[in-house]
Amino acid sequence: MDLRYKSTRNSELRMRASEAVLKGLAPDGGLFVPEKLPVLDVPMDALKDMTYQETAYAVMKQFLTDFTEEELKSCIEKAYDEKFDTEEIAPLAKVGGTYFLELFHGATIAFKDMALSILPHLMTTAAKKNHVENEIVILTATSGDTGKAALAGFADVEGTRIIVFYPKNGVSRVQELQMTTQKGSNVEVAAIHGNFDDAQSGVKAIFEDQELAKKLEEKGYQFSSANSINIGRLVPQVAYYVYAYAKLLANEEITDGEEINVAVPTGNFGNILAAYYAKQMGVPIGKLICASNENKVLYDFFGTGTYDRNRRFVLTSSPSMDILVSSNLERLIYLITGEDAGKTKELMEGLKGNGSYSITDEMASKLQDFEAGFATEEETAASIRSVYEETGYVMDPHTAVAACVCGQYRDRSADTRKCVVASTASPYKFARSVMTAIDGKYGTEEDFALLEELKRVSGVDMPQAIRDILDAKVLHTLECDAGKMRELVERLLVSDQGM
Ligand SMILES: *Cc1c(COP(=O)(O)O)cnc(C)c1O
Repeated sequence: MDLRYKSTRNSELRMRASEAVLKGLAPDGGLFVPEKLPVLDVPMDALKDMTYQETAYAVMKQFLTDFTEEELKSCIEKAYDEKFDTEEIAPLAKVGGTYFLELFHGATIAFKDMALSILPHLMTTAAKKNHVENEIVILTATSGDTGKAALAGFADVEGTRIIVFYPKNGVSRVQELQMTTQKGSNVEVAAIHGNFDDAQSGVKAIFEDQELAKKLEEKGYQFSSANSINIGRLVPQVAYYVYAYAKLLANEEITDGEEINVAVPTGNFGNILAAYYAKQMGVPIGKLICASNENKVLYDFFGTGTYDRNRRFVLTSSPSMDILVSSNLERLIYLITGEDAGKTKELMEGLKGNGSYSITDEMASKLQDFEAGFATEEETAASIRSVYEETGYVMDPHTAVAACVCGQYRDRSADTRKCVVASTASPYKFARSVMTAIDGKYGTEEDFALLEELKRVSGVDMPQAIRDILDAKVLHTLECDAGKMRELVERLLVSDQGM
């Protein structure tokens, strides 16, 4: 079957998967969506004995139909290798009655590695297939984790360059150091005076700037996006939900066909959308529990039918979820409009103009698969502490938000289905928040001393990603105002300063 992709804002457009991966964003500003959500063609009984790589192939081939078997398998082999510190790639940890799907065993110890370790390979393969001669320039706005994972994925990949923007005071110390120490002759990192949404809007505006695109074309460059709006990010993420279900079955934690719930710490809505796609593919998932921190735009949206970004932006201990515009939600909106590109466009223009939009009751009625909740900073810390005290398991703050919201849902509903919590970062990445949640006495300790303490209390070895930054040199010190991102990009690429 040859699956095409269309834009959420224009149903006329049709592209092959490889073209959609290359472009990132549709030319009309919409997001690429498959014209039909594929279903798994391998039975669970076979999936349960598969490795992660085999599962990834079974899932991804259904979406990326213009990649040959050889191409796709080669991308998968290059991505999911020893960069991960466990052969399972995405192991499940059973803690109390909950299953933590640990997505942080890759090079940068956050779940973004699950997709960003394969995206560069998908992209360079797609470039070859489409006879692209230009160098591909990846522009990425990051709330902390994407940036490093993208830098690690694209560093020194031939035919590509990457520029990452992060909010100057919006990422953890470890996150910042991970980015500013990144090596590679094709990488640039810039700190923005603004928050993540400013960085993301800036990148979107640069993508839509036709004049700049023309200037770059003359220089032999073209833009693409490594942000989670790229279907090359979304599709690999579907795989670990299939894998998790199959492993629960293999481990006899569930019976074949038994429904499970999934709780996902949510920011840009990419990860939970991947879980939704897995459900559409045939994985028996009951509720998709969308967990927010105090930036609870999504919680309010699911409760009221109005998405409203006009509110105070809160800096929390789960910075990768400090987001007021969840870009990937557009793909869900598109589905609940009944795939009405005109209507989706109108709603998204409302979001851009007034910062809000409301869906109809009919659209809201199609959101039954979702449950939403949020955790305050206090609840998040309490969740880290209580799970640690009861089980010895140490969660990072993002995972803790989801674990907390999962617990709230269990308490208020009669739903007894087993729950998989997407565990999105290693606690080492957020050692300060984690350790002060466990015991207030750690509040005054130095960052690096905390890492040692974390090792002691968790009994988990320090990951390579942390050992790497302990003595690495800072290589990137660029800063700019959020309004000056375009100029910076132009300076770096067109006038060839830097890089
Ligand atoms: C990016 C990120 C999230 C949010 O995921 P989305 O796909 O943007 O919803 C949650 N936790 C961590 C650690 C992340 O890096």
